[in-house]
Parts: sequence; C-alpha cells; structure tokens
Amino acid sequence: MLTAIYPGSFDPITNGHLDIINRTRNLYDELYVVINENLNKKTFFTIEERKRLVEECIKDMPNVKVVVTSALTVDVARELKASVIIRGLRMVSDFEYELQMSSFNRILNKDVETVFIMADHNYSFLSSSSVKEIVKFNGDVSKFVPKCVEEALIKKSKEEFK
Ligand code: ADP
Repeated sequence: MLTAIYPGSFDPITNGHLDIINRTRNLYDELYVVINENLNKKTFFTIEERKRLVEECIKDMPNVKVVVTSALTVDVARELKASVIIRGLRMVSDFEYELQMSSFNRILNKDVETVFIMADHNYSFLSSSSVKEIVKFNGDVSKFVPKCVEEALIKKSKEEFK
C-alpha cells in the first residue's frame, strides 16, 4: 500500500491545490490532504472551515482523505504510514523554501521522500493569499477556486470587513 500526504495551510483550498491533488491521487493508493493548524499563524478561515472546504472538494475522490494536525509533517507521515510528501512547485521563488523543508524532513525521517509536482501553467501564479486579497476588494475569484470556496470567501469577507 503506497500512501502519500499533501500538507499545507489550505487557507483556502484553490484550483491550484486541486490540480495537484487530481494529478497525484492516481499515483498512490491513498492520498491524505494534511491541513496544518499552525497556532502561531493567523489564518483567514478557521481550521474547521478549511477542513470543511477541502472535504467538499474531494467528496468524489474515493482514495483522498483529509486530516488536521498541529504535529510535524514527518510525524504525521509516520502516523499515517505514508512514504511520500507531495509538494507543489509554482515558480523559482518556491524552490528555496521547499529545498530547505525537504532537507529538514529527510534528516528528521529518512523513510519519507518529498515528491515535487510542477504547477500547471494555468495555476503557477495562483496562491491562497492572492485569492483572499482579490475578495477583499470585491474582485471575481470564480476562475481560481471552486464554487463552494468562492461562496465561503464572499460570506467570510462580508463578516470580516463589515
Ligand atoms: P503553505 O502554507 O505550506 O505554503 P499552501 O496551502 O499554500 O501551504 O500550499 C500547500 C502546497 O501546495 C505547497 O507545496 C504549495 O507550493 C502548493 N501550491 C499552492 N498553490 C499552488 C498552485 N497554484 N499550484 C500548484 N501548487 C500549489
């Protein structure tokens, strides 16, 4: 059984994340989307909201599951018996951070390999933060996120900035 994890903040999940999930899920028996609950980082959506949105997006993908964690990624991999960490690479600017993280992770757990998937060229510019910025100024994000995420963004930003 080959299991992979795809960790991130997913604040919120975007079409770029979903593209990585879709392209990866058939390569492994099981794929876990791991949402990091980083208590030091202020997020737009709560951990429950981020989980709910991921769940909604993966509901028709039988071998994809979602888990929430505040543990180290390598420890989550160990717990879930995953041998692969999936990360997406958008631009050269992602590379330095990802290289550092994958080196750390390999030292911390040599049984887990990080696999990088190049972002689709249609999504290489797309990030959760840019989507949140667009919504803040009432811009249209329908091309960048699934419908349920768009609705949640609009609702939350009305509450947040009223
Ligand atoms: P983090 O907070 O760790 O950067 P994110 O939730 O933003 O986590 O992203 C999780 C992973 O998904 C990272 O590897 C990131 O590079 C990747 N990713 C984010 N946006 C995209 C995108 N548009 N296309 C491909 N990969 C992406």
